[in-house]
Amino acid sequence: EAKKLPHSGYAFHSSELTTTTSEYFFYEKALRQGIENKELITYFQPQICLKANRVIGAEALVRWLHPEMGVVPPSKFIGISESTGLIIPLGREILAQACRHWQAWQKQGFELERISVNVSTIQLMHQDFVSSVAEVLAETGINPAVLELEVTESFLLQNEQQGIEVLYALKELGVALSMDDFGTGFSSLSYLKKLPLDQLKIDQSFVQSLPDDAEDLAIVEAIIAVGKAVGVEVIAEGVETELQAKFLHDKGCLLAQGFGFSRPLPPEEFLGWCRSFNQMD
Ligand code: C2E
Ligand code: MG
Ligand code: MG
Ligand code: MG
Repeated sequence: EAKKLPHSGYAFHSSELTTTTSEYFFYEKALRQGIENKELITYFQPQICLKANRVIGAEALVRWLHPEMGVVPPSKFIGISESTGLIIPLGREILAQACRHWQAWQKQGFELERISVNVSTIQLMHQDFVSSVAEVLAETGINPAVLELEVTESFLLQNEQQGIEVLYALKELGVALSMDDFGTGFSSLSYLKKLPLDQLKIDQSFVQSLPDDAEDLAIVEAIIAVGKAVGVEVIAEGVETELQAKFLHDKGCLLAQGFGFSRPLPPEEFLGWCRSFNQMD
């Protein structure tokens, strides 16, 4: 235990630390409770085929509907859920919710080509991850090809060989893999050769200033070209304007999602939104 030094700044630092720590424990405790109380709900953001102007998929994005705090965004609790290990049960719950909703929509005559679920590095590197995905697929009985897992480049930092092996094991289950936030990571393009990817997701930071920003424009064009060259589908995230959508389409990026089409929707609103979008001309 640290000694107290009467006239130093120790007490100040100590109380500052205490605040941070108690806030952390507050969230940890609340999150544990929240998972138990089924307060964590998966929202869905439509993914649009720009060519057909139709919904082809959805990204599952978790929300914490806390009775007092209201809607808590993932930026407030995903980090804590990772450092406490709560991301393991939570991630499984999100995956199961996504698959169950896909199935419910299918029963209502709406068959999405795919449903994308974000997976954190902690989940991916957990020894039981591949079998937990297999279990959820078996429990829900959905076609594995419908499920797409979104990973970020950071998983390669921890243990590249293990990460690659996990991706191949997931591919063996029949699921698709997307590289999220593409272009923002540390790594070289060489992993495109090593990883069994089905999709690159252009990070929203490159999409935001399209088509005016010359650098972003060059980066987006390059990612589209790389995707074509290695035979991997490309989707843009963070598409907010019609001009951005048109630009992406003209450049050959045929898939998009963003507030310009729809914000992530609560599951009960998703189907209605898709039906009315698909009916428009
Ligand atoms: P992400 O996977 O890159 O998700 C995209 C984020 O951008 C989402 O934020 C989405 O709501 C937001 N977004 C979508 N369209 C637009 C747009 O047009 N403009 C702007 N400004 N933003 C847009 P969200 O839902 O707050 O999620 C943030 C991040 O938290 C996600 O980034 C992902 O890394 C993580 N996350 C969310 N849900 C989950 C989950 O279920 N599991 C895990 N492991 N991580 C999750
Ligand atoms: Mg994502
Ligand atoms: Mg992203
Ligand atoms: Mg992002």
